[in-house]
Amino acid sequence: MLNEGVLVIGGGVAGMQAAIDIAASGREVVLVDKERSLGGHVKEYGSLFPELTEGTLVVKQKAQIIKDNPKISVMLGSEVDRLTYADSNIKANFVSNGTINDQIFSAVVIATGFDNFEGKKYGEYGYDRYPGVITGIDFEHQEEAILKKPIKTAVFIKCVGSRDRSKGMPYCSKICCMYTAKQAAELKKAQPNAQVYVFYMDIRSNFKNGEEFVRSAMENQHIKYIRGRVGKVIPTNGRLLIRAEDTLMGVPLELEADLVVLATAMVPRESTKSLATQLGIKLDSNGFISPIPMTESENPMILTKGVFYAGACGFPCDVKDAINQGSAAAAGVLGYLQFNRRAAN
Ligand SMILES: Cc1cc2nc3c(=O)[nH]c(=O)nc-3n(C[C@H](O)[C@H](O)[C@H](O)COP(=O)(O)OP(=O)(O)OC[C@H]3O[C@@H](n4cnc5c(N)ncnc54)[C@H](O)[C@@H]3O)c2cc1C
Ligand code: SF4
Repeated sequence: MLNEGVLVIGGGVAGMQAAIDIAASGREVVLVDKERSLGGHVKEYGSLFPELTEGTLVVKQKAQIIKDNPKISVMLGSEVDRLTYADSNIKANFVSNGTINDQIFSAVVIATGFDNFEGKKYGEYGYDRYPGVITGIDFEHQEEAILKKPIKTAVFIKCVGSRDRSKGMPYCSKICCMYTAKQAAELKKAQPNAQVYVFYMDIRSNFKNGEEFVRSAMENQHIKYIRGRVGKVIPTNGRLLIRAEDTLMGVPLELEADLVVLATAMVPRESTKSLATQLGIKLDSNGFISPIPMTESENPMILTKGVFYAGACGFPCDVKDAINQGSAAAAGVLGYLQFNRRAAN
């Protein structure tokens, strides 16, 4: 049976873009997300580095394009939990309010995004135990309230769960240097008298204008970057005592803070791992999707016959990269449907 419908799993920015580009060719697309609204993580963000565009605005604009295109059907509150081959098509199982349905598609884009590393795995920082200790994602979700609350001192701790072979993940999560600079600068703009410190191992800002963005946080917003590691956060007199070491100066230091923000790693989702495994798609050693080597494939986002991927399910990436990958996956799907399937029939 020839089926020309395409399934996009995940309505984050990567999946939204893939759906928009595929539907622009006139093909039917089903865009499914397990949450009740589109946008993935970005729908919760106030601003996006480096231009400080509103995250919600990016999501709203894409959601409107999707709404206006009758070729795209959106299924919210529905999770794809199984993918199997059915002749030359792919069968997907949807779980929604405890009921399971299935549907056949000619091609699939996996755009299932990332999860957050559990901050409480670093017990010494007191996440989930001490009020005032939050993660970078919590900062994005609670930004309005955080910026309104008077803060004398805030401390940002980078590389929590990244670049740590013993307790976390071995890789660098790539974007947390940038979002930490963004959050620290937002805080300082809202509360110019606050002292804001960033503890870092390295500063990795290899994005267009990334270096300038971080430098501006340091020089224009007067955020104090300290090369070093925080050893412990201790609740003291209603505040948080930070015990750390300045590794450039080679001295221990202590300071009291009202807010501690942990830049936790971006990690692969369990659902990505299980969907990939069902279709025999390779994962890398960390559990992210592993594409076919460039020398063996015609499109960088192809995984196996008719199955493509886009966004942070492949590796931590910023919003622009996720959107570009959504477009690249869409181009791959259209090429596949036009040429490969015509040849097969
Ligand atoms: C704290 C923080 C701040 C950041 N700030 C910035 C910034 O300022 N600028 C910037 O460029 N980038 C920023 N990023 C990066 C940004 O979050 C990612 O680039 C973006 O979210 C990737 O989009 P995505 O669509 O790949 O994944 P996601 O946003 O994770 O979306 C994936 C979607 O898939 C859905 N899904 C997953 N599995 C299933 C399934 N089986 N069935 C149905 N639906 C499913 C999920 O519900 C989700 O809606 C930040 C990241 C963090 C952690
Ligand atoms: S991007 Fe920066 S904060 Fe994130 S893991 Fe890499 S070096 Fe650490």
